[in-house]
Amino acid sequence: MFRSIRWRIAAAFAVLLIVCIGGLSAYLSHFFHDNYMHNLRAQLADQARLVGDASESYFVGGETGSLDSLAKRLGEQIDARVTIVGLDGTVLGDSDEDLLEMENHSDRPEIIEALEEGTGGDVRRSETVHREMMYVAAVIVADGATVGVARVALPLTEIDAAMGHINAVIAVGAVIAATLGVLLAFQMTRITVDPVRRLTRISKDMAEGNLSQEVTVASRDEVGDLARAFNRMAAKLKETMSLVTAERDRMAIVLESMSDAIFVVDGEGRVTMTNRAAGKMLQVPRGAAAGRHFIEVVRDHEIDALLQKCLEKREQQTGLVEIRSRRQLLNIIATPFQEDRGCLLLIQDLTELRRLETVRRDFIANLSHELRTPITSLKALGETLSDGAVDQPSLARDFLEKMNAEVDRLAQMVQEMGDLSRIESGEVPLQKRAVNVADVVERAVERLKAQADRAGLRLQNQVASDLPPVTADDARLEQVLVNLMHNAIKFTPPGGQVSVSAKAGDGSLVVSVSDTGVGIPEDDLPRVFERFYKGDKARSSGGTGLGLAIAKHVVEAHGGRIWVESVEGKGSTFSFSIPLSC
Ligand code: ADP
Repeated sequence: MFRSIRWRIAAAFAVLLIVCIGGLSAYLSHFFHDNYMHNLRAQLADQARLVGDASESYFVGGETGSLDSLAKRLGEQIDARVTIVGLDGTVLGDSDEDLLEMENHSDRPEIIEALEEGTGGDVRRSETVHREMMYVAAVIVADGATVGVARVALPLTEIDAAMGHINAVIAVGAVIAATLGVLLAFQMTRITVDPVRRLTRISKDMAEGNLSQEVTVASRDEVGDLARAFNRMAAKLKETMSLVTAERDRMAIVLESMSDAIFVVDGEGRVTMTNRAAGKMLQVPRGAAAGRHFIEVVRDHEIDALLQKCLEKREQQTGLVEIRSRRQLLNIIATPFQEDRGCLLLIQDLTELRRLETVRRDFIANLSHELRTPITSLKALGETLSDGAVDQPSLARDFLEKMNAEVDRLAQMVQEMGDLSRIESGEVPLQKRAVNVADVVERAVERLKAQADRAGLRLQNQVASDLPPVTADDARLEQVLVNLMHNAIKFTPPGGQVSVSAKAGDGSLVVSVSDTGVGIPEDDLPRVFERFYKGDKARSSGGTGLGLAIAKHVVEAHGGRIWVESVEGKGSTFSFSIPLSC
């Protein structure tokens, strides 16, 4: 309870009030008491002088024996104890007591003082009446000489009663004032502290993320100023938060749409954030990375070593890492954060880039190889002719025919390359219409029948005539079939078989050309559709290495797909799909 400002202020105020009011009450009580005693003493002194005046004649006339009855009479009149004492201290008259029983009063302080100074007083407990009494005495003067002392005494019971009453009034007043004071202090602190408590409650709410709050304090005092400053701060905070949130959302979109993997790692090497690309590239399930150690998530020591070095040295680290199990080539850039001990890891997948680079290198190597072969033989034939063979007509004709064949080969290559680049760039628009594939297969089989016969192969057309039509450019489709069948014939030893089949599937027609030929090694399978790609067994054969690349582009331009299944030494099956006409 006393931890609250409200209670502390109220308690301090109450203590202060009680001390002040208590002090004031004590002072007032003392003051009233003194005043009362002073007045009583003055009043008793006057009465003592009057008693003295009344008894003077008795002393002058030598009638001191009657002083006792005078004292009794006067005592009754003024309702006080009256005592008349001779100069030697003998009690000559007393209103309350029997003279015979009274001792000499010369030792009484008020009598001594009166004889010295004219009047004297004392407060003490009377052994005769057993009460606290005030005694006031005055000398009795007759004919200019002091003849005795008149004394008046009153019990202080009345004063005590009066003081008791006054003290009670003061005490009640003090209690009422203290209670009102405490209540007032409590109320005042409540009015002051309540807005502060509201501020505290709202601050807590804001700390939990509820920023759309405002404190309403109408007062123009310091608390009001604090509340207004608080509201301004809250508005500014809200504005800043929405800016930060917008910025964070933008960053999140940027991160998510990046093709590079991002890992944010803390000083202990624990992953705090990843993007979608990170999950895809390193096969980390979404949400499984956060809070785990980087090495557990990525499971690659080379990448982890780069990260550890970056965390240790607080310097950017880069490196190429090859993940053999997934045939991936990754470029790692680990950058330390300036403001904390963490680190940002950016991982670029260079696998596709490396593949394209290989394709480009192979393309150039193959192209130059393909060009070099006919050019070299043309040159050799030309040189032989000019060295004298030209004079031997039969030899010269044979050489010229060979030269012609080489030129034809070059021309075919140029033609096919031109076709390929035109198909690739979409320069040759497809003349699509509903086509019966059986007819196209029939035409292609007819074209290659003689070639198959020459190669000692059986060419089988297994395509049913009642297949649903496809939407295609039939001339291009025939070109694809001829390319596939031509290869099948070329790569199948005599006695083998080449067959063409087709079947309608889900929304498309799949056409397959199978052979019982040499087959394709497994490692070469992904590359056969690259331009100029030739398998080892095909190096010496004629052909440009462009046939399958052209077939692939034609099929894909139709919205289809081409693929190969092959077992080395047993044969191959090339298949492609073409969407059915709707
Ligand atoms: P090429 O002009 O050399 O035939 P292609 O693009 O048509 O060029 O074929 C590329 C390579 O694919 C060939 O060199 C060969 O190694 C391989 N290939 C294609 N078809 C077959 C097949 N039916 N059997 C075995 N290998 C094949």
